[in-house]
Amino acid sequence: MSASSNRRTVQRQGAAVAKDPARPFLIGADPSVTAAVETLASRVEKVTAIAAQHAASVDNESRFPAEAIAAARAARLLGIAVPREFGGEGASLSEVVDVCYGLGRACASTAMIYAMHQTKVACLTRHGMGSAWHQRLLRRLCSEQMLLASSTTEGERGGDVRNSTAPIERSNGRIALERHATVISYGEAADGIVTTARRCTDAASSDQVLVVFLKQDYTLQRQVGWDALGMRGTCSAGFKLIAAAASEQILPVSYDKIHTQTMMPVAHLAWSGAWAGIAAAATDRARSFVRKARQRADGALPPGAPHLTRATASLQKLRGLVASALRRFGLAADDPAALESVDFQIAMNLHKVSASELAVATVMSAMQACGIAGYRNDGEFSIGRHLRDILSAPVMISNDRILANVAAASLLTGAPVSLRD
Ligand SMILES: Cc1cc2nc3c(=O)[nH]c(=O)nc-3n(C[C@H](O)[C@H](O)[C@H](O)COP(=O)(O)OP(=O)(O)OC[C@H]3O[C@@H](n4cnc5c(N)ncnc54)[C@H](O)[C@@H]3O)c2cc1C
Repeated sequence: MSASSNRRTVQRQGAAVAKDPARPFLIGADPSVTAAVETLASRVEKVTAIAAQHAASVDNESRFPAEAIAAARAARLLGIAVPREFGGEGASLSEVVDVCYGLGRACASTAMIYAMHQTKVACLTRHGMGSAWHQRLLRRLCSEQMLLASSTTEGERGGDVRNSTAPIERSNGRIALERHATVISYGEAADGIVTTARRCTDAASSDQVLVVFLKQDYTLQRQVGWDALGMRGTCSAGFKLIAAAASEQILPVSYDKIHTQTMMPVAHLAWSGAWAGIAAAATDRARSFVRKARQRADGALPPGAPHLTRATASLQKLRGLVASALRRFGLAADDPAALESVDFQIAMNLHKVSASELAVATVMSAMQACGIAGYRNDGEFSIGRHLRDILSAPVMISNDRILANVAAASLLTGAPVSLRD
């Protein structure tokens, strides 16, 4: 089934969602009619199976994971975090990050696309509710299972997300933007692009807004392709983005608030979920390799087995790190002062650095456990794709940049007095 026909099927189904904490999904507009009930977990399982089936060709051909995203739409995964009153399921960030983890085990690119989309959804649900336009968008996002892309990287600024060059130009209630968007993952496949921009022509570079442009509002002129080491299915090409829309498409809250309260922490948590999934998949491969090698050697463990132990240990640490960062976000989520505190900002920035480093270390250990079988690009124990994909983690908003940015703020805090703080 094509992506568009899949999407039409979903629209026809007019989903209703029950209140059960297991989050069953009722297929069919009328819950009183006999309905198929599927939990979020079982829907995710179906999508991950499809993502896994196509992961190698997505990587080989550096192509958008159309089958997996169509399956995610059919399973209505794109709107799960939208509040129920707008047609979503009110899923928590922990649930969303868990989906990223599941997808990451199957196809890194699909997981990262889902993570980036959900980060945009979080910005809309947490900061767009004061705007009728954004409320309508959320309803559409759920009913049509729209996929949103993100544009923050601009020109030569790299990961300097808190500064923009291109300004919003305003005239007669309309806005226009021309932006050198050097990286927009799945830009051509998305239904809309959520972009940062300078507030107006005479605003400082750090005085930014966040704007949603829908497909009919913009053209993308491709400037650079995407032939990358890993994350090849994210199709993170560079474009000149030329957009025009109604001024109400600007989110009603300034970007500095959106960034500190939602964009940065949610992005780092969702990405880390995807990376943990990649690390888990690599560790599973290494385990299968060691099991098979032991069988062949009448029960004797192969020499690479300690590397599996190391991979298992760092995966355990990584999973714990993600879980504890999610708990921390959950506690602060509705408290702007807590979210904006120096401690919280440092914690969420360093979470990205630590999670990415641990994920790379885990996949490296998994590869070493498999030896040449892991180093090969072919064969059932190849760790090549996982390694190439995970090497994007320290680069995606460079760890060096984060560490340098956090350095001054780190002087303002001290170590907690208790392990329970
Ligand atoms: C898979 C993937 C998908 C992406 N998708 C998107 C997307 O959809 N939308 C989007 O807008 N962007 C996207 N990006 C881009 C990303 O958000 C960053 O902007 C980008 O990775 C930073 O690129 P850069 O290396 O040129 O950045 P820079 O931050 O400029 O880093 C360049 C080099 O300088 C070093 N460096 C930077 N600052 C410092 C410092 N203060 N001290 C010491 N060294 C420093 C870094 O270590 C690095 O070696 C994506 C990136 C990846 C990898």
